Amino acid sequence: MNGAMKAILGVLIARPLIAIAIAAVVVGVGLLFLHRQKTPVTHRVQHVELTDRQQMQLGSQEYAKTLRENRARIVRSGPEYVRVQRVAKRIEAVAARDKPAFVWKVTLLRKHVANAYCLPGGKIVVYSGILPITENDAGLATVLGHEVAHATAEHVAERIARQDLTHVAAVIVAGGVAFTPAQFVRIEALLGVGASLPFSRSQESEADHIGLVYMARAGYDPHQSVAFWKRMQRASKGQEPPEFLSDHPSDAHRVERVESWLPEAERAYRR
Ligand SMILES: [Zn+2]
Repeated sequence: MNGAMKAILGVLIARPLIAIAIAAVVVGVGLLFLHRQKTPVTHRVQHVELTDRQQMQLGSQEYAKTLRENRARIVRSGPEYVRVQRVAKRIEAVAARDKPAFVWKVTLLRKHVANAYCLPGGKIVVYSGILPITENDAGLATVLGHEVAHATAEHVAERIARQDLTHVAAVIVAGGVAFTPAQFVRIEALLGVGASLPFSRSQESEADHIGLVYMARAGYDPHQSVAFWKRMQRASKGQEPPEFLSDHPSDAHRVERVESWLPEAERAYRR
């Protein structure tokens, strides 16, 4: 060992806190590189620990529970059912290119609430109350594109990683019970079904961006997306905001941002 190495070791042994800090940084950087991946469309580097399979299991468990609890509300036929299946099929085909492992499925629930969501792994729930605001297939494609983007960009898994709940989520998937009820409630809330606000503002904006490109790739005119968000804004004025907006925090600049992504979406639309 040379003199310089001895000197460095001497410093580390004399100051264990520094050694611990250096070790923590090395491990932290290692973890970041180990789970480094990029979001579709926006190409943002993100840190996610749950595998595709674990996310699918987490989502499927939640989906099964929702369908059990809303059995009487499931719409199985009729024009609204046909419309939701038709649009979802096209959006799912586009999303599947980014997440081939996910198994996509959509369920329409008869509920006078303007809301929709997609669970990790590709299970989608649409409430009939949002259909009048979507007005047409392109409007519905905007909603579905946005929701599906939360799943392909792994936003829930990302929040679970940020809140240090990956281990708890993995245990839930494995069917174990090594978690406290409070931790379970936090995971449920992050899945997007709870009453809390599950996504951050930047994730919402990213879902708008990815969703816009998805609806264009699926063959829907992206300009219709701007018209939909304006209808959504109008619907939220004066009265209580639609559930979709309270679950998906919006702001005055949303339409402007969507418009700024239009050239990119138009290229995808023409292709
Ligand atoms: Zn959202």
